[in-house]
Amino acid sequence: MSTANEASKVRNPVEIVIDQTRCMGSGQCVLTDSSIFDQGPEDGLVILLRPAPGEASRPAAEEAAELCPAGVIRVLG
Ligand code: SF4
Repeated sequence: MSTANEASKVRNPVEIVIDQTRCMGSGQCVLTDSSIFDQGPEDGLVILLRPAPGEASRPAAEEAAELCPAGVIRVLG
């Protein structure tokens, strides 16, 4: 039987949302984790490779969101 405390520790799956229209192509996200983010070869705009990368990738996803100079990466869950 789980307690309320244990239940509150359960987190929702990591979900990454980007607004590509406001991306400025700086590439910080790709430098942070190139398995989650890529950049278009022509315009350099972010491409989200893994919108639901799994719990192990949460720190990298959150770091990318913090480092993004345009503030267009959101980590949900
Ligand atoms: S760090 Fe932000 S602005 Fe730079 S490429 Fe990634 S999403 Fe775009």
